Amino acid sequence: MTQDFRKIDMYQCTWCGKIFRTDRLHRCKFRPSYRNCFSCRHCRGVIVERTEDGYTDKTINCEEGLHTSILTIAQKQWELSCPKWQIMDDYRGRETYAVNVMEEKRRAVMTEDSGDDDLPF
Ligand SMILES: [Zn+2]
Repeated sequence: MTQDFRKIDMYQCTWCGKIFRTDRLHRCKFRPSYRNCFSCRHCRGVIVERTEDGYTDKTINCEEGLHTSILTIAQKQWELSCPKWQIMDDYRGRETYAVNVMEEKRRAVMTEDSGDDDLPF
């Protein structure tokens, strides 16, 4: 009887809303306990620079002046523990981040990135 069924263990991440299998460790970059730019009120978007060899460098436009590169945050597996970190108002994860940062982008365009992503990075 049991071979007629496949056991599926899935869960939805509270912070980004994506669905994952429970057997995989998901380190969500929107998790506020990581104290990174994705949940921080000082994030004002992303500065995208293209080098001559075509490499794209993305840096956080931080109003506290800590212009951390996205690569650095990724290498820390999103756990930045920034000393200037302060959570965004009413933070609920990816959704809150998207709203706050997109609003800032409309007021002051910080990026030349015109990709089709709904998030700047
Ligand atoms: Zn997540």
